[in-house]
Amino acid sequence: MNVLIVEDEDRIASFIERGLRAEGFGVQVAADGETGYALATSEDVDLVLLDLRLPRLSGEEVLERLRQVRPDVPVIVLTARDAVEDRVRNLNAGADDYVTKPFSFAELLARIQARLRSRDQHSAVALDVSGVQLDLRTRTARHAGREVTLTSREFALLETFMRHPGQVLSQVQLMDRVWGYDFDPGSNVVEVYVGYLRRKLDKHLIETVRGAGYRFRAAR
Ligand code: CA
Repeated sequence: MNVLIVEDEDRIASFIERGLRAEGFGVQVAADGETGYALATSEDVDLVLLDLRLPRLSGEEVLERLRQVRPDVPVIVLTARDAVEDRVRNLNAGADDYVTKPFSFAELLARIQARLRSRDQHSAVALDVSGVQLDLRTRTARHAGREVTLTSREFALLETFMRHPGQVLSQVQLMDRVWGYDFDPGSNVVEVYVGYLRRKLDKHLIETVRGAGYRFRAAR
């Protein structure tokens, strides 16, 4: 799957690119509207992430032109939190969804997967690893036969671990994915939330790898 990121803010574009590449997506980045439109018209692009305030051609104009040549390609608009009216306008103008800035990678990924899933019914809607089952549609979790109540952050953290069983994930990777690029990297929030998951599930499910990060036990 190939995702086109049309975003002029370097920091945000590379944050999204890093995360998507780690998930196995092909990624192209355009830093202005004109380049974005030119790339988006290619059939190789499966989904477009579109910022609105762009140099050379605005996101709205890109969307309008793109809809004339590729009416079906999913477009997710990246918008500022206060621009509610813009969002409504964009959805009317043919955006499939929007994500408000600042966002976490997990939130964006969930939207991307939902869009791609509605095109491809065969994509996973559940994860089942090491005795934990996650239903990604209902956002519910089960462990050892009982339902476990999780907050949305806990769910996102657990989903991130379960998508990479047996793999060491660093504190920074987990922060990026679950909390987003605006979160204080010096915070101990990852450690705190790993603690919550250990308490709610099983203390041996998530292993601390000293100096490197955390690893979700890979047994099936
Ligand atoms: Ca911008």
